[in-house]
Amino acid sequence: MKKELRKTFKNANLSVDMRVLYAKEVQESTVVELKKEVRRFGHLFSRPPLLALILLGSDGASVTYVSNKRKLGDEIGIEHRDFFLPEETSESELLSLIDSLNGDDSVDGILVQLPLPKHISEEKVISRISHEKDVDGFSPYNMGLLALGEEALVPCTAKGIMTILEYYKVPLSGKSVTIIGRSNIVGRPLSLLLSKKGVDATVTLCHSKTKDLERYTKDSDVVIVAVGRPKYFDSSMAKNDAVVIDVGITRVSDSSRKRGYRIEGDVDFSSFENTDAMVTPVPGGVGVMTVTSLMENLLKAAFLRKGVEA
Ligand code: NAP
Repeated sequence: MKKELRKTFKNANLSVDMRVLYAKEVQESTVVELKKEVRRFGHLFSRPPLLALILLGSDGASVTYVSNKRKLGDEIGIEHRDFFLPEETSESELLSLIDSLNGDDSVDGILVQLPLPKHISEEKVISRISHEKDVDGFSPYNMGLLALGEEALVPCTAKGIMTILEYYKVPLSGKSVTIIGRSNIVGRPLSLLLSKKGVDATVTLCHSKTKDLERYTKDSDVVIVAVGRPKYFDSSMAKNDAVVIDVGITRVSDSSRKRGYRIEGDVDFSSFENTDAMVTPVPGGVGVMTVTSLMENLLKAAFLRKGVEA
């Protein structure tokens, strides 16, 4: 970690005052456990857990996300069945595919890569996935359980952020946390996890209509930024020793890069130089844990369907 830290700071010309919350080492420790669980499932049921991956069209970011999921799946030893369908696939065709996967006992989890083309209702598709196989945790059933503070398949990004906070032993009980962004996939489920009994943070959920945002962020021990605007949040908006979690992933055109773009987070990382803050990097932060949490959800779904504790 120290070596990696020095490298990052050298590349970014930063001093070492702030701490970087790398996700890679969090992922490595989770992957060890995931591999054990895959082996346990294999011993008990004579097959690996199986994830059905559905992707419509060829949007660059979606293709990358799906390929990262397949890669980690291969590493931990799960099986994946891929359905790469044309963008023109109709809503009824997609719903029929989901119905058949719901009824297929060899399938443990179903993931439909979002966003979907405009002619398809995401709500309809998400609701159609059996809640037992809803490894993204977006279904009304799993979101309902989460809202009630009960055991659920939890949306992967929110779950991954909780794992990072836990790994780095960030105190949460009685602490004030501000989340910027109230989407159903990040901010809202995260607000439920953080305010849950046992975690006990005091959570403020901000959005585009929030007035005087800094009034909340400057007073917070932890700030989570999930807005989708590069470098939106900087050190002038935070306490000197805040923990800052950057969820944002935006592709910014960059002709100096071979692929023609670079990835930027919502946090102006370098502005935290010479502060006592702890910040997650982009890339190498929350995104890494989103895909790891998906695999955790798959294992959990696979065991639960068999009536065995995950
Ligand atoms: P989203 O659905 O577009 O939601 C954005 C949220 O930001 C909304 O709640 C919006 O408020 C709020 N917002 C927009 N402008 C704001 C402003 N000026 N001040 C305060 N709040 C503002 O986005 P999302 O799906 O949650 O994703 C957010 C970012 O995270 C994107 O960059 C996305 O690519 C990234 N992401 C990363 C991962 C990962 O694995 N790292 C996973 C998912 C998403 P309103 O509700 O009022 O519109």
